[in-house]
Amino acid sequence: MDDQGCPRCKTTKYRNPSLKLMVNVCGHTLCESCVELLFVRGSGTCQECNTPLRKTNFRVQLFEDPTIDKEVEIRKKIIKIFNKREEEFPSLREYNDFLEEIEEIVFNLTNNVDLDNTKKKIDMYQKLNKDTIVRNKIKLTREQEELEEALEVEKQDNEQRRLLIQKEELFQQKMKRKNKQDLLDQLETSRLPASILLAQHKGKTTQIEMQLERAKPSVTFSTGIKMGHHISSVPIPKLEESLYHYQPIHIETYGPEVPCIEILGRQGYLNHVRATSPQDLAGGYTSSLACHRALQDAFSGLFWQAY
Ligand SMILES: [Zn+2]
Ligand SMILES: [Zn+2]
Repeated sequence: MDDQGCPRCKTTKYRNPSLKLMVNVCGHTLCESCVELLFVRGSGTCQECNTPLRKTNFRVQLFEDPTIDKEVEIRKKIIKIFNKREEEFPSLREYNDFLEEIEEIVFNLTNNVDLDNTKKKIDMYQKLNKDTIVRNKIKLTREQEELEEALEVEKQDNEQRRLLIQKEELFQQKMKRKNKQDLLDQLETSRLPASILLAQHKGKTTQIEMQLERAKPSVTFSTGIKMGHHISSVPIPKLEESLYHYQPIHIETYGPEVPCIEILGRQGYLNHVRATSPQDLAGGYTSSLACHRALQDAFSGLFWQAY
């Protein structure tokens, strides 16, 4: 990419990083100081294409390619005129054609293609749809206003909630500080032993904390339902299905049958297995369980046969 710069004074962003490039409706770039110099009287013509320009129409160039800045400006203008909405068209097809037309106009104006005809087209549309354009513009403004109003309400709500929480916190701090001071006073003046006073203080602290917990402002969930707020809702529909029946798992082990857990001890299998400690029992471990598993492992596959 070439280094961006002003075509008139040849200053580049490389040499002057604070260089501010401006672009006007014709899409040609000039740096800020050249604009100041050339358009002292507020208007003039473009150095490159002689289009009459107004100084107030110069914008800071946002894109590397100034043509895009030009397109953005043109698009804004065209959309204000071609402001019909989808619901105003009898079919999606026609709405798409309309959008296509807008694109073509924007393209033509941006790239200086067929300018006369395009401008004629715009004028014609403007004449034919005078009322619709005005009506849709009002509609759009109203929607914008409604949105802004909703945002304002939300902002106020947030502010109020913040103040409430702040107040609550201050109150809590005050209560706790007072409680502490009370203890210090008591330790100084009372004849009771310190341990009793401390125990009393602890009880009181818990009480205060419980009180504060209860006084907390109600929390609203993201669903908009307040905490503890009851809402009547449609009962969850019952699923009419047949119940699940448990069937013990049958595992084909191809080995001798393992004696059942209950008789392992009687048959002497547990003689060489570590006895269960109370800690093991708490975790659900028993010697016979482990022994049973080990036997299952050992026996399985002993009579392996291929079918
Ligand atoms: Zn310049
Ligand atoms: Zn120009």
